[in-house]
Amino acid sequence: MSPIWNLAHPWLRDLVAYEPGKPIEDVARELGLQPEQIIKLASNENPLGPSPKALAAMHDTLSRSHFYPDGGAYYLREAIAAKCDLKRENIILGCGSNEVIEFIGKAFLNPGDEIVTARHAFVVYKLMATLFGAITVEVPDPGFHHDLDAMAAAITPKTREVFIANPNNPTGTLLSQAEIDRFMDKVPEHVVVVFDEAYYEFLDTPPDTLKFVREGRNVVVLRTFSKIQGLANLRIGYGLAKPDLIETLQKTRQPFNANGIAQAGALAGILDDEHQSKTRAITTEGRNFLQAAFERLGLEFVPSFANFVLVRVGDGKVLFQALMRKGIIIRDMNAYGLPEWVRVSVGTMDQNRRFLEELQALLPAKA
Ligand SMILES: *Cc1c(COP(=O)(O)O)cnc(C)c1O
Repeated sequence: MSPIWNLAHPWLRDLVAYEPGKPIEDVARELGLQPEQIIKLASNENPLGPSPKALAAMHDTLSRSHFYPDGGAYYLREAIAAKCDLKRENIILGCGSNEVIEFIGKAFLNPGDEIVTARHAFVVYKLMATLFGAITVEVPDPGFHHDLDAMAAAITPKTREVFIANPNNPTGTLLSQAEIDRFMDKVPEHVVVVFDEAYYEFLDTPPDTLKFVREGRNVVVLRTFSKIQGLANLRIGYGLAKPDLIETLQKTRQPFNANGIAQAGALAGILDDEHQSKTRAITTEGRNFLQAAFERLGLEFVPSFANFVLVRVGDGKVLFQALMRKGIIIRDMNAYGLPEWVRVSVGTMDQNRRFLEELQALLPAKA
């Protein structure tokens, strides 16, 4: 190992870099295809693209690119506050909600501290904890459902943070209000609970976690513009918490972490209810279509509450590579210790149909 490792934090040796969905440009280059021929169903992006209103707002901002952005993001935080019935002081913006996860680590984690999360929870929590030398306690999740009783029981005096993704990625499972309330009754005050709600807007009847923010509990709710808003490229998301918690997190960020073009796009996007309901509608249709097809094909899948489905296909890596040669990008689940599963994002109906056709052609013929 290079001698530089003797100078770096020892825990960084264990840190494996996050493996994102394969970019369309990479696949196009590698296969000699045009980017337009490729379908990406690998990162839970919005297949309709951004709201036209967000595009227009961003366009208007481009000529102001020589100015630094509003570091306090007054208008966007006001708009988020209005939407959530909170105050601007309850909101912190991040370069994606992933950056807010990092702020929460920076603010509260010391080497040797513990975080608690579910075995198949979003992998970024563990990566972030490792970055700060903290230990990730992974609680078994039978049937891929977070077991909140077991997670509460896993809290020790060393626990600083609990991460709950709801709906969870990559499983698409949802926790009920009753499960969440019972869990919150048991959580001690020395623990910060993070509800990661990246897919919140896709839910018909979402559980209320903002009530814990209003009650003054040590809770951070994470949401993002990357999913239903279709603005993943802008890297903008947010955390909602009581004002003193937000103030603590604000100290950990760079002054201009949310750029002005992203702020303008996000502000127009959050006000565009029509685009969001359109996205919700095609997501529900596409998810039902995919899940019905998996059922017909005898493929085990986890019924999803988000814009993707986790499905068991045999050898996930092999299927991922075979589909990629056909110009379809999905996600194998080796990073989650699920080599037999893949995760496919819901696309447009045309994309869903093409994915399914190619999938069927690749599955071993039934005897
Ligand atoms: C996609 C996703 C995010 C959002 O990440 P951004 O940094 O906002 O793009 C956060 N949490 C989960 C569980 C996700 O699936």
